[in-house]
Amino acid sequence: MKYLTYIFALLLGTVVLFYSCDDDADDEGVVCVQTTWFEDADGDGLGNPDVSQLACEQPNGFVADNTDTDDAGGVSTITGGTPVSAFDDFNADAVTVSFDGDEITIESNALPNHTSPYWDSSNELFIDAIIADPNTMSPGTIREGSYTLTVPSSPELASASSSTGLGAIGIAISGAPIFNDEEGPNIQLTAQVASGFDYAGGHNGPTGYHYHLESSDIEENTLLSFDDERLVGILQDGFLLYGRRDSETGDYPTDLDESGGHFGPTQHSNGESFYHYHVINEIFVEPYIILFGGDLQGTPNQFM
Ligand SMILES: [Zn+2]
Ligand SMILES: [Zn+2]
Repeated sequence: MKYLTYIFALLLGTVVLFYSCDDDADDEGVVCVQTTWFEDADGDGLGNPDVSQLACEQPNGFVADNTDTDDAGGVSTITGGTPVSAFDDFNADAVTVSFDGDEITIESNALPNHTSPYWDSSNELFIDAIIADPNTMSPGTIREGSYTLTVPSSPELASASSSTGLGAIGIAISGAPIFNDEEGPNIQLTAQVASGFDYAGGHNGPTGYHYHLESSDIEENTLLSFDDERLVGILQDGFLLYGRRDSETGDYPTDLDESGGHFGPTQHSNGESFYHYHVINEIFVEPYIILFGGDLQGTPNQFM
């Protein structure tokens, strides 16, 4: 009997030991359990079911609740519309901006004010390819186009986001259009295609010259955003698209939604918060960074 008790005690000891090991692992919290957090843009404590992110700890401006059907309405953190001074950054030779009460109309002839190997060799902005691989450059040269976009002067977040389509999704400060992350119907941009892009992150397509990618950090690039806070352009839902960094902190914003958007001030807004996008600091396809590959969080307006 004494012998059996001894065995039993030994077994019990082993079991206790195992349990202690498990406890230790948990206490150290090595394994992080991510949960879904929903954006609370209007600060009412209710989260927007359409805008979420996974995180171990509650991100700023996000809540666990997902029952807010009108997150952009109510007590909104929008304190001003699109800052008008942002339009000073656009290429005045290509882009005309008119303000008409509740609306802003942006018209562009699509001719960018920077050098590119995609210009006709007779053009003064023509340069030999520096970044672009001449073998994978798309055919054609930069030619005049016509883009007219009318957006609300105070765009609002839509109750549901919209996927972007082929063709222009916005107008860059240079005047040339911004395209998304596709090269054809449901055909993702590949590194092979991107290798033919110029330093501005653009190339020619059937409808003309356009950008997909963040530009490169080379001497020739004097006006397009690279890893900074500069304005990239305006998207068709009326929200401005900025470079990867926040103008106030100089850091990459950490509170971006899945489209790269957040509320905050920019260099144009005099400290006032408004919703805008940033280029997301994430490699799209090695080594390229896409300008805008997400869904529009506002209501898309049609290009004319
Ligand atoms: Zn393209
Ligand atoms: Zn920002």
